[in-house]
Amino acid sequence: MTLSVGRVRKGWVEYVFIHASTALSKSGLPDLDYALNPYIGCYHKCSYCYARSYCRFEEPRTRWGDVIYVKKNVVDLLRAEVRRVRPGSVGLSTTTDPYQPIEALTKLTRASLEVLLRAGFKVVIQTKSPLVLRDLDILTQHSDLVEVGFTITSVDNSALRGIEVRAPPPTARVRALARVSESGIKTWVFFGPIIPGLNDNSSTIEGVVEVARETNSTLYYDWLRYKEEISNFFKTLGLSPEKYVRGRDFTSWRRSVEERLQKICRERNVTCIPAFSS
Ligand code: SF4
Repeated sequence: MTLSVGRVRKGWVEYVFIHASTALSKSGLPDLDYALNPYIGCYHKCSYCYARSYCRFEEPRTRWGDVIYVKKNVVDLLRAEVRRVRPGSVGLSTTTDPYQPIEALTKLTRASLEVLLRAGFKVVIQTKSPLVLRDLDILTQHSDLVEVGFTITSVDNSALRGIEVRAPPPTARVRALARVSESGIKTWVFFGPIIPGLNDNSSTIEGVVEVARETNSTLYYDWLRYKEEISNFFKTLGLSPEKYVRGRDFTSWRRSVEERLQKICRERNVTCIPAFSS
């Protein structure tokens, strides 16, 4: 596939190759100075995904998962930007998965990693895809500058089937996480979102905590968050957004899940941290 093509359909997804104006953007996330998103939109199409609400392009936002913009000049932009800006930590990616299936062909994430790490930037990768293993050669050369996090919402492949519609199954993520960890790279598990009635039970929590323990990973957790763009998902779950955001039932639900999670982590010696302060 050539990166000069304007628009191409591959399976379920239409890829649109665009010229971006910048590669790095300022990150609003804790502990990250910059965000780098080589793609806009996400093939995995998780039903709970609110990343689309941060997307300023109408087409990938309204057809989330079915249209993906590919920033074909992102690596050229990045080469110039790393010479201009102060080195810092870069979230790769913050509003999509940097290992989209098309990354196997475009290699934009791989080339971006090379540029950033050679320039001394720290890179924090969050993914659901074993494709990250392809880049272990680069990552291990710079293991002091790299962290890799896998989102694992359950270790049971059937638990969120139909919700994480096209994401690699949890068992594949767990295997990939173990390989990254074994190669000496700092790893973490993102247990999120925790969804009422779906992955908040003790056996699911124990399964995810055990993965963190076995892979020597820190566990970050977060809750299902409401944005208008995912109101249909709330309807499917039978949740009232109003009550969910402000209701006492959900405040006490959160508290009780959090207590159980923290207790299980303490018992297994796993560092457990809320991903966001609110
Ligand atoms: S993998 Fe992440 S960015 Fe992609 S659809 Fe799922 S939650 Fe959204």
